[in-house]
Amino acid sequence: MSEKTPKLRAVLDGIPTYKPGRPAAEGGPVTYKLSSNENPYPPLPGVLESAVAAAGAFNRYPDMACAGLMAELSDHFSVPVTDLATGTGSVGVAQQLVQATAGPGDEVIYAWRSFEAYPIITQVSGATPVQVPLTSDEVHDLEGMLAAVTDRTRLIFVCNPNNPTGTVVRRAELESFLDRVPADVLVVLDEAYREFNRDADVPDGIELYRDRPNVCVLRTFSKAYGLAGLRIGFAVAHEPVAAALRKTAVPFGVSQLAQEAAVASLRSSKALMERVDALVTERDRVFRALVAQGWTVPETHANFVWLRLGERTVAFASACEQAGVVVRPFPGEGVRVTIGESEAMDLFLKAAEEFRKEM
Ligand SMILES: *Cc1c(COP(=O)(O)O)cnc(C)c1O
Repeated sequence: MSEKTPKLRAVLDGIPTYKPGRPAAEGGPVTYKLSSNENPYPPLPGVLESAVAAAGAFNRYPDMACAGLMAELSDHFSVPVTDLATGTGSVGVAQQLVQATAGPGDEVIYAWRSFEAYPIITQVSGATPVQVPLTSDEVHDLEGMLAAVTDRTRLIFVCNPNNPTGTVVRRAELESFLDRVPADVLVVLDEAYREFNRDADVPDGIELYRDRPNVCVLRTFSKAYGLAGLRIGFAVAHEPVAAALRKTAVPFGVSQLAQEAAVASLRSSKALMERVDALVTERDRVFRALVAQGWTVPETHANFVWLRLGERTVAFASACEQAGVVVRPFPGEGVRVTIGESEAMDLFLKAAEEFRKEM
C-alpha cells in the first residue's frame, strides 16, 4: 500500500467537531434529555398527517424551490418570496451565508461563548474567526464587536437570544450597532429562539431587516416548532443575499417531508403559541427556583437556562445525570439546561439544590 493519503485542506486540522447533546440513557431508570434545546412536545396538529402523506412520494426528489413553503412563509411573515431562502436547518443556512461571504483572509465576528456551530462553519470556509467575549453579565458586547470590525470583516453573527446563555440584546443597542456597521458587512441575526422571548424591548429581526440591506435573519423549525429531526430552517434577507443563498444550497437539501411539515406547522399557530407559552411558564418557574436556591442565573429569554459553574461544570453535569436528567456541559465554563417536561425539571431542580448545599 502506498504511504500517501489523500491531501485534505490544512484548515480542517483546527476545526472542532460539533458535539451533539448526549441522548438520555436507554434502559435503567427514566432519564430525560435536556441537552439539545429540543421541544418536549410531539409534532403540532396536522403535521404528522401531512408528513405521512408526503412519505408516499419518497421515490421522487423534493420540490427544489420549496415553492409551497416559500409562499406560506411569505404570507406568514409579510416578506416577498424573493427575500426568502430555506436550508437544512438554520445551521445549514448559516453555513451557506459564510460560504457566500467569507473565504481565506476574510474575518467572521461573533460573540463567545455563543452557538458552537459558528467557529466550525467559519473555519470550514477558510475564513478567520474573530471571537468577542460576552460581557460579565453574559450578554453580547456589541461595542466590542464593532471595535473588532476591520476591512477584512465580511459577516457578523448576533445570536439573539444567545445560545447557551439565554441573554438578549435590546432594540436601542442593536439599532445603534446596526447603524454603525459598515454597509458592506453582512449582519446575521440568528433568532433560533425568537418565539420564547417575552421582552417587548427585544426587536423582531424581521422588522429590522426591512430597511437594512445588510441584515439577514435566521429562523428555524427545530426549536419552538419541534421539527429538529426534519432539518429545516430559513433566512430572510434582501434579494442579493437571498439569491446567493439559493446558489450555495445543496440541491434538493430540504426534503418534501420537511417542507410539508413546516407548512402544516405554520398553519398551527394557535397550538404553537399554547405550547410555547407553557414552556415559557415552566422556564420562569425553573429560573425563580434556581434563584431561590442561591444560584446566579442570567435572565433567560429562550428555552434553556445557563449556569456558569466553571471548574464545577462536569461534576454538576454528572450529578444531574445521576438524578435522571442529561444536561449540556461546556467543560470549564458552565451548563446549559433545556426546559423540558415538568417532571424532568423537578428532577433537575432537586439535583441543583443538593449540589448547591455541598458547594
Ligand atoms: C438550535 C440552533 C439553531 C438551529 O439549528 P437547526 O439547524 O435549525 O436545527 C440555530 N442557531 C442557534 C443559535 C441554535 O441554538
